[in-house]
Amino acid sequence: MAERLFDKILVANRGEIACRVIASARAMGISTVAVCSDADRQARHVAMADEVVCLGGAAPSESYLRIDRIVAAAQATGAQAVHPGYGFLSENPDFVEALDAAGITFIGPSAQAIRAMGLKGAAKALMEEAGVPVVPGYHGDNQDPSHLAAEAGRIGYPVLLKAVAGGGGKGMRRVDRPEDFTSALAAAQAEAQGAFGNPAMLVEKLIRDPRHVEVQVFGDGIRAVHLYERDCSLQRRHQKVIEEAPAPDIPPETRAAMTKAACRAAEAIGYRGAGTVEFIADGSDGLRPDGFWFMEMNTRLQVEHPVTEAVTGLDLVEWQIRLAAGEGLPLQQDQIGLSGHAVEARLYAEDAAAGFLPATGRLERLSFPEGLRVDTGVREGDEISPHYDPMIAKLIAHGPTREIAFQRLLSGLRQVELADCTTNLGFLQALLADPQVRAGQLDTGLIERGAAQLCAPAGVSGADLAWAALIALGLAGPPAARRGFSLWSPLRHQVRLRAGDDEVLASVEIPAPECHVVALGEARHTLSWAGAWQIAGHYAPAWHLSGDRITLFDGAPRLVEILRPGAEAAEGPGGEIILAPMPGLLRRLSAAAGDRVAAGQPLAILEAMKMEHALSAPRDGVIAEILLPEGSQVEAGAALIRLESEEEATA
Ligand code: ADP
Repeated sequence: MAERLFDKILVANRGEIACRVIASARAMGISTVAVCSDADRQARHVAMADEVVCLGGAAPSESYLRIDRIVAAAQATGAQAVHPGYGFLSENPDFVEALDAAGITFIGPSAQAIRAMGLKGAAKALMEEAGVPVVPGYHGDNQDPSHLAAEAGRIGYPVLLKAVAGGGGKGMRRVDRPEDFTSALAAAQAEAQGAFGNPAMLVEKLIRDPRHVEVQVFGDGIRAVHLYERDCSLQRRHQKVIEEAPAPDIPPETRAAMTKAACRAAEAIGYRGAGTVEFIADGSDGLRPDGFWFMEMNTRLQVEHPVTEAVTGLDLVEWQIRLAAGEGLPLQQDQIGLSGHAVEARLYAEDAAAGFLPATGRLERLSFPEGLRVDTGVREGDEISPHYDPMIAKLIAHGPTREIAFQRLLSGLRQVELADCTTNLGFLQALLADPQVRAGQLDTGLIERGAAQLCAPAGVSGADLAWAALIALGLAGPPAARRGFSLWSPLRHQVRLRAGDDEVLASVEIPAPECHVVALGEARHTLSWAGAWQIAGHYAPAWHLSGDRITLFDGAPRLVEILRPGAEAAEGPGGEIILAPMPGLLRRLSAAAGDRVAAGQPLAILEAMKMEHALSAPRDGVIAEILLPEGSQVEAGAALIRLESEEEATA
């Protein structure tokens, strides 16, 4: 008889993984408690849960890492179990013990299993004993630099230094020559000390043409089953970017050897719950049954688990919850099938061209296409804050073959509309279109070698600039909508645009309402209306305007900036005239005739393309005259306000 499932669980995490866990719990009829930091009070995971407990400050150390507050939250809400997601407290044995002491179930392995796999060195020793192949190297306790150097010599260069407490690629250094060993060791130790408070290192042989292949396992405390492997070789700075299941071109005998080794690893520590056994494989000659070695075991759900769900048709969070509730493994090994191919891309707020520097910003526009699985923790309007991981979403495609899955994901990524935040969307598209990636010729260095091309910002075409000119001038809407007010009369409009380092003056002529001709230097682009604007037979791309930044979608996002002279002021005989910089609605006037105003003071709000633009005083002065009433629909260049100097006013 299976034990009774939980009525209520608390999800001790945030972002997409909290949302994803809540979804599975809800599907099982279990109610959910979210926790949040002050910065996350409006977050999607909070909105999705049945209850919420706020933990405190924005910093993880004051919120998502506070064991005491999370345990108290579970007690206060009557949650019988806690799901940790990944990251934060998911691999913290003290957390598990604190929950145990409070009589609350941890949805994950025992504290003991987490400890056994927590330090890479000890885990390798344990696996070696269990007969699991491990990367040749030194993982003992002697941390004397000369001893480690001697071990490196014995292993043979090049070697890899790894923090025993490591994770996320931190505290790792490749060393090619003995003379570089001492300085590399010092640098890796310092990084490990900073990141994990533990400078201990292990030394490993550096595997050539390395592929990262990992096996998803589930244990019931005695036996373990596997849910096949994932290939996560596409990495930047030792962090996964694209993951797929199954591994491309894995021979059946290699899969058999690898999945068997993974189950043996889990069984060796009496593992209960979901885990991932990570192997590094020598890919120089295909994936061979004797060419893979244990790296580490992650005792939690992985970011990339959706690809496994796609090819097995199973819900891994449901399995975790059922095992934690005391049920046995939901399926036997021979009942777990593999169907088709799945691939996941991690969409991050980051600047690929600037070395993948994390970015922040508000997601003013966020829309994902149909047909892909999208795991996300944010909605349109949400902020990517500097406090947490900058992942925006994971996009997952499944198909009968690898080629179809990749093509689906690529085509889906091309339809993502996201602004106004720098992301790796263009980089992901370039990566998924890369011929080597498509051929399945993967290794962990592929991205670094191709970085110059893969990370280059997408080029802005002449057609893009022509379309951007129309957007900038407020002419991108349907011509019929503008019929009421004669926007095409001045028949020539001009705007300066910048794309990358290039600046251009665009002139738009409107020979007829349904035809706009944009001149960019010598080049002329004609846009014609046929239910939507078209350029040379192609529909104009979807777009978003944020202040003076235009993002063009459909493919890799392209950014065009509008160079406005600000609220243009024309010197006239009777003082200075404030002109409308673009067509729009004169939403508000915040000054009246006779008012004294200071330079920079807002005088009016012009609403254009759903954005409000403040028009401010170009200098100190007195309002001589308001030329148009509030609520007027105005053209670009329309005279709005006349400003005089103090002397003129008193003259
Ligand atoms: P972390 O826990 O910091 O993520 P891992 O041990 O999982 O570190 O290794 C991260 C990545 O570093 C691997 O996916 C692989 O790309 C690379 N790597 C690790 N060990 C080796 C090795 N011995 N040879 C070559 N590359 C390695």
